[in-house]
Amino acid sequence: RPVLVWLRRDLRLTDNPALAAAAQTGRPVIPIFLRDDLFEALGAAPKWRFGLGLEHFQNSLQRIGSGLILRSGPALASLQQLVQETGAEALYWNRSFEPEGIARDTAVKSHFAAQGLDVKSFTGNLLAEPWTLATKAGGHFRVYSPFWRALAAQEVAPAKPAPDRLPVPDSWPQSEALHSWQLGKAMQRGASVVAPHLLLGEAAAQAQLDHFLAGALQDYAEGRDFPARQVTSGLSEPLAYGEISARQIWHVTRVTVAGQAALARAAEKFLKELAWRDFAWHLSYHDPHIQTRAWRHEWEAFPWKTAADHPHLQAWQQGRTGVDLIDAGLRELHVTGKMHNRVRMIAASYLTKHLRLHWRLGQQWFADTLVDWDPASNAMGWQWVAGCGPDAAPYFRVFNPETQQKKFDAEARYTRRWLATDSGFAEATPRAWNVTETPRPLSPIVGLAEGRAAALAALERFKSRD
Ligand code: FAD
Repeated sequence: RPVLVWLRRDLRLTDNPALAAAAQTGRPVIPIFLRDDLFEALGAAPKWRFGLGLEHFQNSLQRIGSGLILRSGPALASLQQLVQETGAEALYWNRSFEPEGIARDTAVKSHFAAQGLDVKSFTGNLLAEPWTLATKAGGHFRVYSPFWRALAAQEVAPAKPAPDRLPVPDSWPQSEALHSWQLGKAMQRGASVVAPHLLLGEAAAQAQLDHFLAGALQDYAEGRDFPARQVTSGLSEPLAYGEISARQIWHVTRVTVAGQAALARAAEKFLKELAWRDFAWHLSYHDPHIQTRAWRHEWEAFPWKTAADHPHLQAWQQGRTGVDLIDAGLRELHVTGKMHNRVRMIAASYLTKHLRLHWRLGQQWFADTLVDWDPASNAMGWQWVAGCGPDAAPYFRVFNPETQQKKFDAEARYTRRWLATDSGFAEATPRAWNVTETPRPLSPIVGLAEGRAAALAALERFKSRD
């Protein structure tokens, strides 16, 4: 009787603990993927990219003699149906830590455990499960540095090898066709513009890691803040769909730099960044409200502007603020589905400080447009910039995009590239925007000094409220 392996954000064969455990049982393995409410709620770009990842992974499974069964509907109902159809006696998955996912998985586990099914969950795609790291007082971490020290002091579990073959069932259950899910529907014309910039699938992610370690890593520590220099790993996208695991990155990096002191220092910086992703999930696991509300509760009362059709919000989304670095960043986002980390911070600061728009509006825009969208990192990033998150930059720290540009893009290589008319931006945007007919303003929609002063004045009023 078969084992069902329920895949979620773990579209890989290597270091896939649930798949490896299922293969070891020697019983037939049926990999499945469910289009449930949580999946349906994805934004346009991540949903489209997820679809491409699924197609790719389906092919990888076929190459080792297996397949991927697709079903739509509430997870529990789909699983009940599959257990009944296949006579499965076990159900395995790797843990996911999205708040709604945890609630769903807990309900599924108790339902099937009560029926005597062998239901097991395995380690998720983090360096450490969120409950394994605790402060001396026994609580969870709220500050990054001690979190990092605790993480670095602990053994990261070794990466499991990919199974050579998966035993197949006598007959496969019916699968829906991936194309019938129409996962790219909301991407409109953007899909063909973004597609050439993707890093798709497990093999490409592993090759990119090797390529990064053999080259750009040596410039990573001092170069990672310069958006025109391509010295970061670019691995956030495959990490988001679990096409590579954080543990693989950790171990391959450490083995590669062993015995090379200078490179090992660069590697430590890189792994410290990778650990920010774990920190985001640690926070979200322990304080799930971080994804929807100000982590510092008092900030819920801050008078952010909230209209989703606010003209300033649209100008920001469409890369028409009149501030070169911000507009370049938003355009890079439309064309590539990603944005350099430093520019994410500066663009987020302009939205939340100069325009004083609610950080949730920016968070939602990224959730709709980033192909590397990660619910925990995105929420933490926005709350960090807005000043209402854990270990955050205080609200009164307002990034000055001009000073930032002088420091990190002095020759304007980044801004020139993305503000050029042939960067693909006009083709990537929805026709309704009429971007080509609407030029960028010659000066900022909210001046840099004026916006900063207004933000600080709002902060003073907020602090002195009753
Ligand atoms: P590298 O510099 O090569 O870093 C390696 C890995 O470390 C990354 O792939 C990522 O997994 C992790 N990492 C690095 N920096 C951070 C960080 N600040 N927070 C969390 N993890 C980090 N990252 C996402 O993956 N998805 C998001 O939706 C996302 N939204 C963000 C929103 C805002 C407002 C900000 C300021 C940052 C956001 N980040 C997000 C973090 C960061 O910008 C990206 O992880 C990074 O740009 C990815 O590029 P890279 O893979 O080349 O990074």
